[in-house]
Amino acid sequence: MKMFFFSAKPYDKVFFDRYNKDTGIEIEYLDTHLGPHIVNVVEDAVAVCVFVNDKVTADVIAQLAAKGVKIIALRCAGFNNVDLNAAKAHGIRVCRVPAYSPEAVAEHAVAMLLTLNRKTHKAYNRVREQNFSLNGLLGFNLHGKMVGVIGTGKIGKAFCKIMLGFGCTVVAYDIYEDADLKLLGVTYVTQQEVMQKSDVISLHCPLTADNHYLINKDTLALMKEGVTLINTSRGGLVCTADIIDALKQHKVGHLGIDVYEQEEKLFFRDLSQDIIEDDMIQRLMSFPNVLVTAHQAFFTNEALSQIAQITLGSIASLIKGQEPEDLATLLV
Ligand code: NAD
Repeated sequence: MKMFFFSAKPYDKVFFDRYNKDTGIEIEYLDTHLGPHIVNVVEDAVAVCVFVNDKVTADVIAQLAAKGVKIIALRCAGFNNVDLNAAKAHGIRVCRVPAYSPEAVAEHAVAMLLTLNRKTHKAYNRVREQNFSLNGLLGFNLHGKMVGVIGTGKIGKAFCKIMLGFGCTVVAYDIYEDADLKLLGVTYVTQQEVMQKSDVISLHCPLTADNHYLINKDTLALMKEGVTLINTSRGGLVCTADIIDALKQHKVGHLGIDVYEQEEKLFFRDLSQDIIEDDMIQRLMSFPNVLVTAHQAFFTNEALSQIAQITLGSIASLIKGQEPEDLATLLV
């Protein structure tokens, strides 16, 4: 039983091989993204396993179906890169990992925030050069600040709890309100109020057809001067051109992004010897108050173990003709 595993990295192989003991699945690891250019390599396979930047379009799905593929397994939570209707039309089952250590992503969002508000990225470099001056390192307390959270699902909820622990006032917007969070002291408000009131805004909603460029020049205009924005969710939620303008105008005081709208051409690769053609990421990285990490929020030992176990478990069940134990893993 073969599975083609796209966008494979050495660490993927470590974790998937570790947990692929009794499944009977033979994994063919490929380091390229899945897309129309490569789909013809899939042969004699029951499944393909994909990640955030693989393009699983209707065209790709039609070709996979023609080759007899029965399962598309996303080893991530977000599924905006898969045409679910096309999969359904071809009778292909699609599974994902809806929850794998939401704390991993929430804690990374907090790490970005704490780096930016206390300038520890600057301090780290400075003391290595024996410069022990504090000039230019003035930060701000999180305690007492208004933190706005958009999307209070598993990750947003974990993030809210940490922020409450810091003594922040937390306001949130979600299409569904979470009763536990309300009891803990989170106040649900409109999306517009989150934008208007918050000193810090963190995005934890999925990217959907309705919220592409949620952060744009109009929504940025609603925000406080010097607002701190954190995006660990999906790059397409933020209009990069507009955020660059807002940084130049000092409207945005700090920006932390773990995701970027053009990330599939950059992230998860070592491009240190290359010429980067993407001027927007270069401009972003030139700001002293912008922190970019390359989609690493999920990247903990705990999360990778869970991703491999849940993905392999779902595929093994589907191959046997059974539904996975956790039905939330099934998208189609
Ligand atoms: P989740 O499904 O548990 O929660 C998402 C929440 O967003 C839900 O409560 C939902 O009601 C809400 N929501 C949906 N549309 C919304 C909208 N338009 N406005 C406001 N809220 C909306 O998902 P999760 O596990 O918390 O993950 C959230 C997102 O984080 C994922 O969709 C994914 O894009 C991203 N993510 C990033 C990484 C990373 O490594 N950077 C890892 C995992 C997930």
